[in-house]
Amino acid sequence: MKLLILERDGTINHEGDPFITSAEDWAPLPGALDAIAQLNHAGFHVVIASNQPGLGRGLIDVATLNTIHSRMHKMLAAVGAKVDAVFYCPHTAEDGCTCRKPLPGLFEQIGERYGLDLHGVAACGDNLEHLLAAQAADQPERAATTSASAPAAVEPMRQPYCDIPEPTPSW
Ligand SMILES: [Zn+2]
Repeated sequence: MKLLILERDGTINHEGDPFITSAEDWAPLPGALDAIAQLNHAGFHVVIASNQPGLGRGLIDVATLNTIHSRMHKMLAAVGAKVDAVFYCPHTAEDGCTCRKPLPGLFEQIGERYGLDLHGVAACGDNLEHLLAAQAADQPERAATTSASAPAAVEPMRQPYCDIPEPTPSW
């Protein structure tokens, strides 16, 4: 099974200010939905792994998040694209959870759900935390050092971080 784990905000849709808090706020980035359709056609199952600290801060509730994702799934379907599932961390940095990227908990949940070893899993996102989480899930023995060094490593960026095994789809 070919699996691609995508970030959501800043990768598929425009970032919120600071969070997407309603379905009306959710707007896809140019080309993103078509890119997912191409990935699907290339045989990739696409899932999302997303930090959603707006939940932990009480800025959005799960019902609203589901409404946002309903809009996303409808817009994807309209271009023949499909995201199989959305995995999210509802916590804030202060909660000390294990699923907030760059920790690998969300990726591990995905591996468990699909019964997959995440070694070499394809991951793409607009921030380094996403790829660090993918690497930590890929190489658990390095997770502790990766996570500890992550905050210093994170920097603003313009191009998505992608780690996609061959064959590389057009993105
Ligand atoms: Zn979490």
